[in-house]
Amino acid sequence: MRIVREPRVYLVGRQHVDEEDIQRFLSDYGLTWETDTEVGAERLVEAGGRVCYLSFGKGRRSNAEYIGNLISQRHGSVLEHAVWNFIIAGVSRSFSHELVRHRAGWGYSQLSQRYVDESDAAFVEPDVIAEDERAHQVWLRAVETAQRAYVELVEILSEKFKDVPDRTLRRKLARQAARSILPNATETIIFVTANARALRHFIELRGSEWADAEIRKVALKILRIMQREAPHIFADYRVERLPDGTEVVKTDYEKV
Ligand SMILES: Cc1cc2nc3c(=O)[nH]c(=O)nc-3n(C[C@H](O)[C@H](O)[C@H](O)COP(=O)(O)OP(=O)(O)OC[C@H]3O[C@@H](n4cnc5c(N)ncnc54)[C@H](O)[C@@H]3O)c2cc1C
Repeated sequence: MRIVREPRVYLVGRQHVDEEDIQRFLSDYGLTWETDTEVGAERLVEAGGRVCYLSFGKGRRSNAEYIGNLISQRHGSVLEHAVWNFIIAGVSRSFSHELVRHRAGWGYSQLSQRYVDESDAAFVEPDVIAEDERAHQVWLRAVETAQRAYVELVEILSEKFKDVPDRTLRRKLARQAARSILPNATETIIFVTANARALRHFIELRGSEWADAEIRKVALKILRIMQREAPHIFADYRVERLPDGTEVVKTDYEKV
C-alpha cells in the first residue's frame, strides 16, 4: 500500500500579457506607461488599478510600491485580475473537503472516484500518527482493511452489473457505490484555479495555527511558490514557527 506524507503543489499556469494590445489601448487614449516587473500577473494588476483613475504615465511608482499601496489601502478587488492554475496532489479527501469550501475566486476539477479505479489508491497519513508507532499500526490496519473491502465490493458489484452493456457505465456503477468505504485519508488530485485575492484569503485562513495540519502545509507551500512567482502581491506575508515546530503565516493586511 502506498502512503503519502507530503502534499505536492505544481504551479501549472500563469498569465501572459498581450503587450501589443496594452500599447494599442495606451495610444488610443494618448497615454504612456512603463512598469518594472516582468511578472504578467503583477503587470495586469497594476494596469487594472491604473485604469480606475487613468493614472498611467512615466516616472510613477514602481510596481512593488503600486501593489503594496493597493494592499495597504485594502483595494483587494484589483488583485482579482491575477490568476494562476495549480495541480495539488498527495493530499487527502479530508483536505479537499476543506479546500472546496473556498468559493469566491476559485475553480476546481477533482479526480472522480466514480470513474477512476481506487484499488491501488495511495493514502495520506497525518504526521502525528506516522510519528507514533502504535497509532501508525492502528491507522495502517484500518486503511488496509478499507482498501481490501473496496476491491472486494468492486468485484461483487461488477458481477451484479455484468449485464449493463456500456463498460464505462458498468464500472461507474460499481465504483461509485464501492467508494463509500474509502476513508478520508484516500489520496486525491485536484486542479485548482484561483485569483490573487482568493489565494491571499486562503493563505491567511489555512496558514493559521487554527487550521488543520495538512491544509496548513499546502497553504505554506502555496505561499512560498507565490512569493517567488509574484513577490509584489505576496510580499507582506511572513512565516513564523510555533513552539511545536510547525509553521504559520502572518500578515498585517488580512482579508484585503
Ligand atoms: C480553522 C478553521 C476551522 C473551520 N471549521 C469549520 C467547521 O467546523 N465547519 C464548517 O462547516 N466549516 C469550517 N471551516 C470553514 C469555514 O467556515 C469557511 O467555509 C472556509 O474557511 C472558507 O472561508 P470563506 O467563506 O471566507 O471563503 P470563500 O468562500 O473563499 O469566500 C471569501 C469571502 O468572500 C465573501 N463571500 C463568499 N461567499 C459569500 C456569500 N455567499 N455571501 C456573502 N459573502 C460571501 C466572504 O467575505 C468570504 O470571507 C473552518 C475554517 C477554518 C479556517
